[in-house]
Amino acid sequence: MKAGYAITTYKIQLNYKHLDWFKQTQSLFDAVLAFYYKLLEKQPEILELSNQNLLRHLELQTIKQRDGTKPEIPLPFEKIPLYFRRAAINAAISMYRSYMGKLKTWAEKQIKNEKPSPPKRLHMSMLYYKGMYKDFDEKSILLKLYTGRAWVWAKHWYTGRPFPENAELMSPTVVIKKKKVMLHIPVKEIVEDGRTAKERVKQHESFVAVALTTSDTLAVCTTIQADGSASHPYFIKGGKELAHRRKQLLGYTKRSSAPENVNGRPNAKYYQKITRVTDHYAHEVSRKIVDYAVRQGAKLIVMPGYSNSFAKGTLPYLKTNVMDFIGRRIIRYTSYKAWQAGIVVTFNSVGNAKKECYHCGSVIYKYNTEYQPPSQNFYGGKNFRCKEGHKGSTALNTARNIGKSFYGAFYEKAG
Ligand SMILES: [Zn+2]
Repeated sequence: MKAGYAITTYKIQLNYKHLDWFKQTQSLFDAVLAFYYKLLEKQPEILELSNQNLLRHLELQTIKQRDGTKPEIPLPFEKIPLYFRRAAINAAISMYRSYMGKLKTWAEKQIKNEKPSPPKRLHMSMLYYKGMYKDFDEKSILLKLYTGRAWVWAKHWYTGRPFPENAELMSPTVVIKKKKVMLHIPVKEIVEDGRTAKERVKQHESFVAVALTTSDTLAVCTTIQADGSASHPYFIKGGKELAHRRKQLLGYTKRSSAPENVNGRPNAKYYQKITRVTDHYAHEVSRKIVDYAVRQGAKLIVMPGYSNSFAKGTLPYLKTNVMDFIGRRIIRYTSYKAWQAGIVVTFNSVGNAKKECYHCGSVIYKYNTEYQPPSQNFYGGKNFRCKEGHKGSTALNTARNIGKSFYGAFYEKAG
């Protein structure tokens, strides 16, 4: 059996003696970052280089070479450790790429959206490559810090959940939040069942199909058996609650007369809270999807492949904020939680899954209450019926169709 790996970020809080050393180090980091960011702005054409060559190019421009060659534009700080500098350069590259990427998308779409503005604050948490930390064990770590005058090695104790056995700890990021200093450590774990979706399909195992909606039911799962039949519908709710909390938070942004500025954005506090709340639901829903798949003994989850329809903007319901916010996150979180559980996530385009009856393939008419005339174009309609008299949950119908279409495309051919 092939093995793959999963990466989880562990967050641990450090005990420190000198918060000011962390702050000094961070402000030096941001200064180096800003220096390289501005250097990049002067030569946007070099973004065509790969990140590695870009780093090399920027170093040649700013750092004295071994043979004594003086740089064109020397880095105006002395005694910057090599790996500290490289982390700052990489941070500058990624910030600049991200901004230029947003600009490009904006220009291509030619929509009326506001033009993306450059980052207001040239800041990023410090990635500590090897050479910046050492003696990392289950209780403490040594970090190289700048005191304002010199670089020192300082030992820091911490407590937190233990790292999994046989896992590889990758370079930590130092995250300073007011008086808290956290280390974010990506932990690479081997997962045993790394078979690809195709291999699984060939073995005729049952799989789970999922549909996502913007209503109270955020996700619907169904299990497609090896013979193609759908069973065990499972509804994951929370959409109403989430919508209510978002509405509440949006209400605050409108009410507050003296908007608080965080990072230069009015009401940033509330928007951050909305993001956190949405994130919480996305985690919960994805956890439930994966747990369901585990209970069903499935090794494969088929999710709606929305990526193209998002870009094309052809499906009106996908443009709603809730979907834009949470749908993609549910997909992302499900992918990595599933991978950790030895389950593969794959995608199937939604196509006509939303428009056709699972039982007979005829057009479906959607509605919410008995008093509404069912309509083909009622995107939010939770119930459906077709001319053959089939009726039920629209979302479950979508999930079953996604499953059916995937089954048809892969299982039948594979058989
Ligand atoms: Zn029907």
